[in-house]
Amino acid sequence: MNYLKDEQYYIDLYDLITIRECLHWEENIIKRDLPPYKGKKIHEKLQPPIKTLLTDLPLYYIKGENYVHKAERIREWMEKDKEKQDKYDNASEPLNIFCPSCGKNMHTTLKELYDFMNEPLRVLFFFECSTCNKRKGIFDNGEEFKSREKLCDKCKYSLETSIEKKGKKTIWATKCTNCDFKEEEEDDFEEWKKQRDIELKKDEELLSKFRTKYCLSETEGQEYVSQKILMEHLNKTMEESKRKEADPAYKKVKQLRKMSVVELERLLSKGLEKQKYTKLTFDKPEIGQFVIIPFTVQDADSSRKEYDSTHELQKLVKNTLEKTNWRLMSEGTSYRLGYVYGRLKGYERDEDMAKLFRAK
Ligand SMILES: [Zn+2]
Ligand SMILES: [Zn+2]
Repeated sequence: MNYLKDEQYYIDLYDLITIRECLHWEENIIKRDLPPYKGKKIHEKLQPPIKTLLTDLPLYYIKGENYVHKAERIREWMEKDKEKQDKYDNASEPLNIFCPSCGKNMHTTLKELYDFMNEPLRVLFFFECSTCNKRKGIFDNGEEFKSREKLCDKCKYSLETSIEKKGKKTIWATKCTNCDFKEEEEDDFEEWKKQRDIELKKDEELLSKFRTKYCLSETEGQEYVSQKILMEHLNKTMEESKRKEADPAYKKVKQLRKMSVVELERLLSKGLEKQKYTKLTFDKPEIGQFVIIPFTVQDADSSRKEYDSTHELQKLVKNTLEKTNWRLMSEGTSYRLGYVYGRLKGYERDEDMAKLFRAK
């Protein structure tokens, strides 16, 4: 028995699903009249372009998504079938099975994969007694097969089934052990084979007619994947900017004046000189996530002592920089012999500045 087929079998199977899905989508729209728009029937002439629009985009996604999942799905199918194949090939035949009526050793006639939902995957071995022709089924794990007993619908007594070959047909005859109930079912293998060949031919036609149209090649598929990544990125960026627009902290950030160091120096020295803090100088900056600049001023008002001088300067710097992306660092300012000094911190990224407002 061949449970595991070659890869092309699974590729065809997958492509057929894609083709049917695309055809279904196309046919569903093309055959139908478009529903009325605002209570009016859409004009005949407008229907085709609208229909194209309605099919093209969904088809683009169906084709693309089916490409994306193709390799993995095929791998899953093949793994499942390989598991069946291995189970079937490697199942060991139960030994020492004796006939229930004459006690002689029974021999196997055939084995079959027993694969039903909600039941473990097993291999069923059929045994026969060469002396009295009695049969029984034993699974590879040693369990005995028990067919579910069917009961007569009329009298609830058990039913008996016999198999008969009539030419190329197999007939399953069922009769009641008590009443006159009888039933016959025909298994026409030739007919089944004929039907199956028709189906296979239809599948082949679908594949040769539509595979290039609906099943993306490696190049087309990769193109779809990169488009998808790009779209997702754009969506994320859009959502991010929407979120920022709604965030009150970002609203405040937007109102700030983003200044370079030159502008900062101009603004600050102008503001400070008015209050008699002169000769603003910047030291070598420390450049990291933020730009940190140590600064010094001289207090030209000799009546101010250390406490007043530092506190007034702090207030002044804070007020002057309030609407900008620069802040006085938390350690504040210090005073030595008429010099007042501290550090300024420059923010570049909106996220960092937003945190400034959130902390409050
Ligand atoms: Zn026997
Ligand atoms: Zn009956």
